[in-house]
Amino acid sequence: MREGVAKAINGVSFDLSERETLAILGESGSGKSVTAQAVMGILDTPPGYVTGGEVRYCGVDLLRLPEKQRQKVRGAEIAMIFQDALSALNPVFPVGWQIAEMFRKHRGANRSDAYAEAIKLMERVRIPAAKQRVRAYPHQFSGGMRQRIMIAMAIALNPAVLIADEPTTALDVTVQAQIMDLLKELQDESGMGLILITHDLGVVANVADRIAVMYSGRLVETAGVREVYAEPAHPYTKGLLESVPRLDGKGQELRAIGGLPPSLLAIPPGCAFNPRCRYATDICRVGAPPVLEEISNGRFSACHHTKEVLEWAAK
Ligand code: SF4
Repeated sequence: MREGVAKAINGVSFDLSERETLAILGESGSGKSVTAQAVMGILDTPPGYVTGGEVRYCGVDLLRLPEKQRQKVRGAEIAMIFQDALSALNPVFPVGWQIAEMFRKHRGANRSDAYAEAIKLMERVRIPAAKQRVRAYPHQFSGGMRQRIMIAMAIALNPAVLIADEPTTALDVTVQAQIMDLLKELQDESGMGLILITHDLGVVANVADRIAVMYSGRLVETAGVREVYAEPAHPYTKGLLESVPRLDGKGQELRAIGGLPPSLLAIPPGCAFNPRCRYATDICRVGAPPVLEEISNGRFSACHHTKEVLEWAAK
């Protein structure tokens, strides 16, 4: 950036298995979407550059592949759905044409076969009257239906990994639930791994197997979904959970996390969360940020005081 170099993600590492749903959680600006774009190889360059690291898929580091080969992986093996389907879809082409393009480009299908596949996919994601609506334009669909079209495009080639970047944020609550049910159903059918990027703790609780919490471009906690909800180990995760209204919390004040996430151009020394953390001590304000350490089987937290946080919570 003109003002300097912003490290949007730094030291982030995670894995994903077949059929698994990993939720990447964090506030806006924590680096969730940039992580997804870096994995997909669709960062806007400039200003974004991947300057190190690996993105391994089936043993191959995608960052080392020539762009032509990477394009073959993108969409066919690893696909992505975006938050705002209206801006992600091309407004001047019918939706069927856009879905069919996947088959023409990647599979060399002819026009009529590709359209037939598009109709099948529209039916699979439950768009009513798919045959009649295959030539309709994105603006002629509701928000929920447009998101279904995005999902149809993403699953067209049966990808092994689907990255869903805030797929329900722009939708109302009932449609959100329908879209999440649909994603889960498609995952059960195909066995794909799902990376769900969200700031919505409700969505995560219902569908994720594991959670990775990001703050200021770093992972601060990773664990199974039940462990995180029952006993968050990192003060930031704890703060996120405490700021959600509870049905059994009538009369209780919500405990918001004070302050704002730091600018990526001015990350505080030590732990980036220290100005907002109620557990912070002197050690948190100096030196390098704490690294992720295993606190129990498969559970990691990046905090100097994880043990104390868990002990205080248990009291
Ligand atoms: Fe809070 Fe310190 Fe832990 Fe950071 S390292 S989360 S500031 S207690």
